[in-house]
Amino acid sequence: MRLHLLAAALVLTVATAAAQTAPPPVAPIPAPVQANVERLQKAALASDLAYDIVESLTTEVGPRLAGSDAEAKAREWAVEMLRANGFQNVRIEPFTIPYWERRIERATVITPRGRQALVVVALGGSPSADVEAGVVRFASMAALNAAVPESVRGKIVFIDEPTVRTQDGSGYGAGVGKRGQCGTVAHAKGAAACIIRSVGTHSHRFAHQGGSTHPRPAPVAPSAAVSPPDADQLTRLLARGPVRVKLEIGVETRENAPSGNVIGEIVGRERPDEIIVIGGHLDSWDQGTGAIDDGAGVAITTAAAKLIRDLPRRPRRTIRVVLFGAEETGIHGGIAYARQHAEAMGKHIVAAESDFGAREIYRIRTRFGEGALPYARALQGALAPLRINQGDNATGGGPDLGPMRAAGVPMVELSQNGWDYFDYHHTPDDTLDKIDRTELRQNVAAYATFAYLAAEMDWDFRKTADAAAEKGRTP
Ligand SMILES: [Zn+2]
Repeated sequence: MRLHLLAAALVLTVATAAAQTAPPPVAPIPAPVQANVERLQKAALASDLAYDIVESLTTEVGPRLAGSDAEAKAREWAVEMLRANGFQNVRIEPFTIPYWERRIERATVITPRGRQALVVVALGGSPSADVEAGVVRFASMAALNAAVPESVRGKIVFIDEPTVRTQDGSGYGAGVGKRGQCGTVAHAKGAAACIIRSVGTHSHRFAHQGGSTHPRPAPVAPSAAVSPPDADQLTRLLARGPVRVKLEIGVETRENAPSGNVIGEIVGRERPDEIIVIGGHLDSWDQGTGAIDDGAGVAITTAAAKLIRDLPRRPRRTIRVVLFGAEETGIHGGIAYARQHAEAMGKHIVAAESDFGAREIYRIRTRFGEGALPYARALQGALAPLRINQGDNATGGGPDLGPMRAAGVPMVELSQNGWDYFDYHHTPDDTLDKIDRTELRQNVAAYATFAYLAAEMDWDFRKTADAAAEKGRTP
């Protein structure tokens, strides 16, 4: 007994000593800078600016489909809002996109005992259609991929793959494949149309909108998402015998519809050409009012930058708020931004996008050079009073940041709790009432902390492990 205790004590001592000899290096933050961090957090936790911004956008503009007149109104709204909040260099950077709008979507089950309407929504990129055909069910996208064309030719394929509820959204990542691929694969195999179980985690009778491919390289079969309870109903009917469905989809499309990114800056006092990008996307799907996707991201990042502007002096580097256009229909804004600023990518110090709702942030993830990890730990230390933990160094950043990531720009992700995000995402239920003011304030405090430190400190987030070793000191 005593021996065991002794052994246990010894193990503990050795472990503690090891931990003490090799603490992970943390870059120091000077006291005046830390004082500003605390000042920003206090201001953010007492401010409803972000809530007022998302309230204004969702009330005055409402749904803002990419390329629509409503999205153009959202750009005008954003320009006025950024100017009113004292941003500099406020501008629209225009680009054009292929326009797609759903006009009609109807699905009716036809069985030997009669007709039943299904709740559906046409998926972005779907062509118009009026088909009636037998339904073949697949439990997963992989099962459709494995099917021989003869088994689906002329049929409506139905992918009944569920979306698993998770805090970090990984269930969406796994479940969204069917939305992106079903129409293309169905078309290639000669199927008449594709219906998917909504990429959502609730049991309400709402169908989840979304793009059928990102981007759209190949022809797609008519594609629609069905609400989760309707997917269950269809599955039960199919278990009883053959089922036919009549699917009607009417869409309007045109080339070269106007879209654009809206930009506002807090210009750096010492190195104005060095850019910290934060932002969200201005467009939304059109069933709801785009409150959590992504009015919240627009509001959180704008309010955070405004609080930094209100400090006694501006930070060294420039903070650029980018409100991306046309994210939902193919990341058009993110692609246009990286193209239009290709020459300046080396001067983009770091970027973060808020596009995962409005719930509390619980973790910081990064994509830094190995030699810059002490900065990741310093950021986490500054965020700790907001209950934010250290995550890994493998984030992909937000959807609009993909092209910047590919160009080598370091990334930060402030992970929001996504437990109920896919109950509302891309449905008529994405409305302002889903946003909690207290949680929104915590988001603003976190973005203000990160953006201020990135803009004020002389940190190089690209730093390699070799560069850090050469300098002979960690931070
Ligand atoms: Zn979004």
